[in-house]
Amino acid sequence: MEAEGALPADRAEPSADGGTDLDRRLAMALERVGHVVRTLQWRQAYTRGLSPIQTRLLLHLSGRTRPPRVSDLAAEFDVSLATVSDALAALRRKELIRREPDPADRRGRVFALTDAGERLTADLERWSTPITERLAACGEADKAAALRFLLDLVGGLHDTGVLAIARTCVTCRFFVRDAHDDPRRPHHCRLLDTPFGDAALRVDCAEHQSAEPASLPGE
Ligand code: SF4
Repeated sequence: MEAEGALPADRAEPSADGGTDLDRRLAMALERVGHVVRTLQWRQAYTRGLSPIQTRLLLHLSGRTRPPRVSDLAAEFDVSLATVSDALAALRRKELIRREPDPADRRGRVFALTDAGERLTADLERWSTPITERLAACGEADKAAALRFLLDLVGGLHDTGVLAIARTCVTCRFFVRDAHDDPRRPHHCRLLDTPFGDAALRVDCAEHQSAEPASLPGE
């Protein structure tokens, strides 16, 4: 007999939307984490007179070896060119970013942080401190497994077109999963020619190249 107040049954069979109870609760848990991330970033934004999109742009430009174009940024944040252009114009007026010629195309323009932008962004990057402080108390094996799980989820959402850009190891053409017998470092990066474990999986790698096959002329 089921105890009174028992937890809801975890139906293994998918329901009409294709998910189990567990799948839906995981999605809800991710929504709660997403809410925390947005709240922490927006707090940082408002105290400095920035909009959320301006804050995300500054954080994205930080430490970038290849400064992006407007179209790169629009794809990165899944927003229109007009939205990104407006946010970039506001940041230029605040002298936090500068526009410069694209080294790959002289007619194009790319964006980079000014010195004032670098200083402000160093402050903004502390948005994640409440999360990293909490994570410091968690076990390394749990964190490595969670990183792999989340990046596989990101990779799957990228494959189905829900997420436009994912510069992670699991979506990279240089990544060979479980290439080695060593359980501590089972994966291999063919670009860096090095084995590595789940804990070293990259979330935003400057050397990433998409694993998607390049489209052929006429396709
Ligand atoms: S190039 Fe970067 S993203 Fe690709 S497998 Fe190597 S470390 Fe990972």
